[in-house]
Amino acid sequence: MITILRNLRFSEDKLESDKLINPTLTPSSISKKLMTLNGMPISKELLPDLYNVMTHCCEKFGIGINNIQGYVYPSSEIQAQCVQFVLSEYVLAISSGMVNLLNNNELKFVVGHEIGHALLNHNNLKFDDNNDHEKYRLSRAGEISADRLGFICCDEDNYAFSALMKICSGLDDDYLNYDINSFINLAKNLKEPTNVNYFELTHPPMVIRARAILWLSMSNLSNNYQNESEKNNKDKAELDRRVNRDLTKYIDNQIFTDLNVLVNDFKFWLFTITFVSDGLLSESEQLILKSNFSEELALKLKVYLSGLSKNEVTQDIWIKLNKSYVNLKNVSKSIATKELNGTIKLLEKHSDSNSLNDLKMRIQINDR
Ligand SMILES: [Zn+2]
Repeated sequence: MITILRNLRFSEDKLESDKLINPTLTPSSISKKLMTLNGMPISKELLPDLYNVMTHCCEKFGIGINNIQGYVYPSSEIQAQCVQFVLSEYVLAISSGMVNLLNNNELKFVVGHEIGHALLNHNNLKFDDNNDHEKYRLSRAGEISADRLGFICCDEDNYAFSALMKICSGLDDDYLNYDINSFINLAKNLKEPTNVNYFELTHPPMVIRARAILWLSMSNLSNNYQNESEKNNKDKAELDRRVNRDLTKYIDNQIFTDLNVLVNDFKFWLFTITFVSDGLLSESEQLILKSNFSEELALKLKVYLSGLSKNEVTQDIWIKLNKSYVNLKNVSKSIATKELNGTIKLLEKHSDSNSLNDLKMRIQINDR
């Protein structure tokens, strides 16, 4: 199993080595009870087809069927999850909506995907009120790994694609015209990225996921994932490079463009609040703003400041600075901290370090 996970875990899926790992997050026996009470157990007698799907996936991963308790719960939502409780004890829960939508072959993809999440420790990634860009990036990378584990559970490649089409559209055989090739062509010939806000995307878009599966199906790794070899390492590196290129081009680049705007905004207000702390913006300070940002921005600021009193100015800029800091922090806490420290350092040339330290502490006062 370790070899399979090592061969198929996407290189950007770094949760295991990340500090987000927290052993105390192991779900409690109460949540296990809740999960198992509200559904129909997947047993040989009650749900033989699903039981066979589960057995098939367990065999693929080399884990015993007795380590997994499966349940189908009533819900029209198309959902599934697999949670690890103690070492080698898993609970798999699938919504009836999902079971009704997919055939048994497609369910192998879903069950493999969900068990894959648990085997790869993705349960340790928790979303709360404080999610930054890195967390979403990790989540998207985790989906790529889980899709690969789902893929190896499929008897035929096409079932992975039709499962993906159904899950993402919610449409069943009656509505979807199963021309897998045209779907694959859509994935092959992906158009230029569109301008979408991708900050809070836990899953990569369907076509990107389909492309990642396509790269795997074309790689030698799809037949040799059980073995450890130099060749496999090479194939995996090439596969990961392709997927990473897609994720960068279609999702992360977009985010980084937007991130740059936020960083600049924050830096600008940090410079400004330092300069106007004495109530006026001197000629030399204006020059510094021009060279660090833009002539236009410096001019706009001058016009804006001319109509306000000293108190109004500091209050107003303070609000703008805080807003820009919160915006940046929402995308990435680590980048916000880095930019704060770096800009304060830059400003030491223009202001005394005591008041800069005070300013830094005031900005960070609400940090958690
Ligand atoms: Zn998933």
